[in-house]
Amino acid sequence: MVLTKTDFIHYLNCPKSMWLEKHDPENFPRGEFSAFQQKLVQEGREVEVFFRQLLDGRAFGRVDYEVEFQLDDLCARADGLAVDAAGQTTLYEVKSSTRVKTDAKHNHLKDACFQKICAELAGQPIHRVVLVHLNSEYVRRGEIDPAGLLVLEDITDRMTAIEAVTRDEMDAAVALLQDEIDRVGCNCLRKSRANHCDAFSYFNPDMPNPSIYSLPRLQPAQLIELVDQGQFDPRAVPEGFQLGKQQGVVLAAFQTREPQIDHGVIKAFFKDLVFPLYFLDYETYASAVPLLDGISPHKAFPVQYSLHILDAGGQLTHHEYLEQEARLPHILVAKLRESIAGEGSVIAWHASFERTQNHMMAQAFPQHEDFLLDLNKRMIDLEEPFKTGYVDARFGGSTSIKKVLPVVCPDMNYDDLAVQDGAAAMNAWSNMLAAPPDDLAAITRNLLRYCERDTEAMVGIYRFLNERWREG
Ligand code: SF4
Repeated sequence: MVLTKTDFIHYLNCPKSMWLEKHDPENFPRGEFSAFQQKLVQEGREVEVFFRQLLDGRAFGRVDYEVEFQLDDLCARADGLAVDAAGQTTLYEVKSSTRVKTDAKHNHLKDACFQKICAELAGQPIHRVVLVHLNSEYVRRGEIDPAGLLVLEDITDRMTAIEAVTRDEMDAAVALLQDEIDRVGCNCLRKSRANHCDAFSYFNPDMPNPSIYSLPRLQPAQLIELVDQGQFDPRAVPEGFQLGKQQGVVLAAFQTREPQIDHGVIKAFFKDLVFPLYFLDYETYASAVPLLDGISPHKAFPVQYSLHILDAGGQLTHHEYLEQEARLPHILVAKLRESIAGEGSVIAWHASFERTQNHMMAQAFPQHEDFLLDLNKRMIDLEEPFKTGYVDARFGGSTSIKKVLPVVCPDMNYDDLAVQDGAAAMNAWSNMLAAPPDDLAAITRNLLRYCERDTEAMVGIYRFLNERWREG
């Protein structure tokens, strides 16, 4: 079995998880983490196009791309290998991030060092190692300028410092591949849910659901105390265990299996509402290589909105806009402005996202600044009351709209939609730009229905809460 660079990075994150993916790929759970890895690969390919343009424009003795080094149990592919007139070889490693990452989850230095070690084991001496990443300051103006888009950072000295350790780690990873592992239990028990990979459930099949990991924002010390006591079922958390307010409410919901309702919190939410109510949701697009003039790498911009308007008499109307060309959202803002009057609350779910988009658009379009900043002043977050005002065990400790909706509005969910999350919407939007006429209508419809479902969901959830408020 051969260890690739991707396997090695996987190994550094978690040896057991890497082993499982290599030995039992069909049973390896591919969830959000795998989708994230795929996105990185796709973005890396986009960046490589401009990396090649950059190197091709420079005076080198010889440049080769995608150079493979195949050994008995190791395999590496260098993004670029350049030999100068003096016969000195530089290895290039291309990344779609805007800096050299050295964090535990993804260490670019280890990536590059793996490539260097493989190249040298295969008989190719490497004199310099350069990490190529995106320039966060770059703003697109017309055609992409590879020299402005990319930063070439010489990391040769940093390789020297980690080479011996990396070699040991590679040897250990190769040895593990030939070995067996204990398929029960794993090392993340003392870490929060955010740190668990897709394979957590596989290695911990007896973990109750919900478990203590479903308690929101548990502090490391709290988690360790419970794990060390062997308490994984929230129903067994000892009385008097120190918890924050939201954690305590979620725990009570798990323990009693009854919704926990705080009428005071719900009333406080309703106190600030002014009719008409504007339920607003944006979808955005972002890419490693900026798609538009005025945009920087990874900078998101809105490409569609859905807006449901509920008046004081209970009448509901729907407005929507989907940008069908690659351009900044000036028409989107103008359309939104036609639909939102100067009075009434603007309601969003996890409103910090919509606020950020409004701020960004206010900077880009000064003629709409007053309107957009006023929307933010009038914005109210519908997610808030579901932190402590209404908590059902079936939310699983989450306040995601996708968890709350099917519980409080059992006739509504996202299951029937072709586009079911923001990442899929981004993909669909970029596909739409290049879609043949036969596919265009379906992609457009899928995008509109997804965004509409978000604001429909908010209206349904608002009405559910409204009944509790009247009861309280
Ligand atoms: S959750 Fe388990 S399998 Fe996943 S990274 Fe942590 S230790 Fe590894």
